[in-house]
Amino acid sequence: MTSDGTSGGATRHDLTIVIVGIVIGAIALSYGVYAAVQWVRKTCFSGAPQQAPLPPPPPPQELEMGPVPAVDPAPPARIASFPVHVYSTDTDERISECGVCLEDYAQGDQYWELPTCGHHFHVACLRVWLESHSTCPFCRQTV
Ligand SMILES: [Zn+2]
Ligand SMILES: [Zn+2]
Repeated sequence: MTSDGTSGGATRHDLTIVIVGIVIGAIALSYGVYAAVQWVRKTCFSGAPQQAPLPPPPPPQELEMGPVPAVDPAPPARIASFPVHVYSTDTDERISECGVCLEDYAQGDQYWELPTCGHHFHVACLRVWLESHSTCPFCRQTV
């Protein structure tokens, strides 16, 4: 009688340990699957980033809300006054892409930084834009 009771208790105790082990194992497995899915998702999508977001525009200063004429070229003398920068990956880490063509700058690319708003674009891209506009293509401030 006594031996029956002792052995029954021991068996039940062992069973409890087995059940707890299964539950912990199931939780660990599901977490492992979840982590694997997250890892795969991150690996697949980090390889090809879609158009990185443009840098935030500077605080607005007297933005004109009125209608903008369709063709309003910037004065050539004004364009000539823009300083031309040569892109270098060493010194220009803070900027990465042209706001017109959205291409990443390459080492040695020439770009303009607009004195009024600080936005920057390839010289070739901005020159084409300024033939019909006198505003920044990004924030529409008059250049
Ligand atoms: Zn460009
Ligand atoms: Zn701008």
